[in-house]
Amino acid sequence: MSKNNLKGGEFLIKEQDAQSTFIPEEINEEQKMFREMTRDFLEKEVHPLRRAIDKQKENPDLIPQLMEKAASLGLLAASLPEEYGGMSVDFNTETVLSEELGKSQSFSVALAAHMGIGTLPILYYGTPEQKKKYLPGLGDGSLKAAYCLTEPDSGSDALAAKTKAVLDGDEWVINGGKMWITNAGFADVFTVFAQVDGDKFTGFIVEKGTPGLSLGEEEVKLGIKGSSTRQVFFDDVRIPKGNLLGEIGKGHKIAFNVLNIGRYKLCAMVMGGSKRSIDVAVNYANERYQFGVPISSFGAIQHKIAEMAIRTYATDSATYRVSDLIQDKIAELVEEGKTKVEGKLIAAEEYNIECAILKVLGSETLDYVVDEAVQIFGGTGYSEEFPVASMYRDARINRIFEGTNEINRMLAVGQMMKKALKGELDLMGPAMKIQEELMEIPDFGDEGDGSALYEEKKAVRQSKKAILMAAGAAAQKYMMELEKQQEILMNLADMAIDVFTAESTVLRTEKLISQRGEEACKLQIAMTKCFVNDAMERCYIAGKHALAGFATDDMLVMMHMGVKRFTKYPIINTIDLRKQVAAKLIAENGYCF
Ligand SMILES: Cc1cc2nc3c(=O)[nH]c(=O)nc-3n(C[C@H](O)[C@H](O)[C@H](O)COP(=O)(O)OP(=O)(O)OC[C@H]3O[C@@H](n4cnc5c(N)ncnc54)[C@H](O)[C@@H]3O)c2cc1C
Repeated sequence: MSKNNLKGGEFLIKEQDAQSTFIPEEINEEQKMFREMTRDFLEKEVHPLRRAIDKQKENPDLIPQLMEKAASLGLLAASLPEEYGGMSVDFNTETVLSEELGKSQSFSVALAAHMGIGTLPILYYGTPEQKKKYLPGLGDGSLKAAYCLTEPDSGSDALAAKTKAVLDGDEWVINGGKMWITNAGFADVFTVFAQVDGDKFTGFIVEKGTPGLSLGEEEVKLGIKGSSTRQVFFDDVRIPKGNLLGEIGKGHKIAFNVLNIGRYKLCAMVMGGSKRSIDVAVNYANERYQFGVPISSFGAIQHKIAEMAIRTYATDSATYRVSDLIQDKIAELVEEGKTKVEGKLIAAEEYNIECAILKVLGSETLDYVVDEAVQIFGGTGYSEEFPVASMYRDARINRIFEGTNEINRMLAVGQMMKKALKGELDLMGPAMKIQEELMEIPDFGDEGDGSALYEEKKAVRQSKKAILMAAGAAAQKYMMELEKQQEILMNLADMAIDVFTAESTVLRTEKLISQRGEEACKLQIAMTKCFVNDAMERCYIAGKHALAGFATDDMLVMMHMGVKRFTKYPIINTIDLRKQVAAKLIAENGYCF
């Protein structure tokens, strides 16, 4: 049995206690070693080549060569099973690795496509022969992978792909075209999705060099200019019958399950990117003088530095919390007799709501952080001489791929509703209770229990009621038609993202306090208070908009009072708290939490 029994989506109706929450401060010695090795590799081999990497047309071999160097350190095979030359590291170690690798912009995207969506379909759905043939090479870097799902006419609506596969004797014949394929320029192995018999969406493995397989020109992109992105065309491409991946008509399972893990990993990677951007920005703010003083001494800049760190600390807290929930679930499934690989797939599906939440959270945090980093750099932020210009451009893709953030917001809420309908998540019971609570005399605050985060814990607990109230009322009004009310779903998703993140932040800081004492955690407490303060404000606004979208008259008045009451948080001096946080970052010359 796992140490905590919070199932996917259950954070809305249950409490997780701080002691059972994994926090990044608890990564073990082996994980620290992986982190140092990866950091060292990136600092020596990858970061110095940033500008050369971005000139992809001139240096097309650079990224594949760097991937091979990463492979020689074992980085590409870390999560693969030992029988295929991997190290079978646990999920939290994968998170640590993703976080570090995520600091390398275009190179991270190439790695993510290779190790994630490129390799995982074969690992999860390949036959023993397919795994034996491809996985060792994908792990040792001699083979590179790409994942071909998107087509010119089917992006978010991926299952509407038109590429076809027809069985002809002992061969599949593939015709069609894919678009936006990362690593296409150098990939040896392509996972390709095509329709069989018109509408049976199915996965296949296609090797480089197969006659009829051709590539478009490199796309000229807004950012991640170093990463290879091309169209892939299939003109009577014949592949052996045995290159079918999984079952006919079950390609959606491959595509979506691989994306659950992809979304989680994307968050871990962009969180690493946020930390690096903060390092670069704080360092610059300390060195740049205006009006005779470093710009880091200005309150306006300190606010930015603190807020960049607060959002990153919150994202970090949520990421490692989910990492460990997934790791625990894998352990539970292995105990029940599943293999580790099967366990990982099932665990990621169990936490698909959290994975979607993290994808949005991580990518939007990074965008905020890089935007402020450019601002801190002022005019130099606009120059290619300094890394922040490319960090700014490179961050933007993360809100688009692995499912756009709109799709992920809808997915998070849609999955909650689906689980509730299936009886796996009792949202309706608690939602009805809240409606009763609305009729009661409101709580006018209490003395608290003297603990540092009493108000924050209370705010998080209460804000879940705001979500349940709004979601419950919307579900009652629209029933099965709720999925068409996208504006309401977006608001509900925003509330869920903020509440989940605020809760993760509170749990992390609470655990830290229990280990180090309150005084030593003053800054973590300050960051937690600022995040909860802002999250409650955002939650109130999102809740108000959602309610006003469908409720009227007395019902609207009553529920508006409810959302106000459930997102209530004391007035605190966030200016002072942010100043304290900024002072530490400035003194340490970078991200230090
Ligand atoms: C640099 C780069 C690398 C990529 N790498 C890969 C790769 O390796 N493999 C691969 O298969 N794909 C890859 N993609 C494709 C990527 O996954 C898609 O671009 C993404 O899924 C969005 O699809 P789309 O571009 O067709 O946008 P669309 O689906 O046309 O979306 C356009 C806008 O409409 C919104 N929208 C769409 N549908 C809905 C809806 N139902 N409700 C509300 N809003 C909606 C979207 O959120 C978005 O804002 C890559 C893309 C880029 C740019």
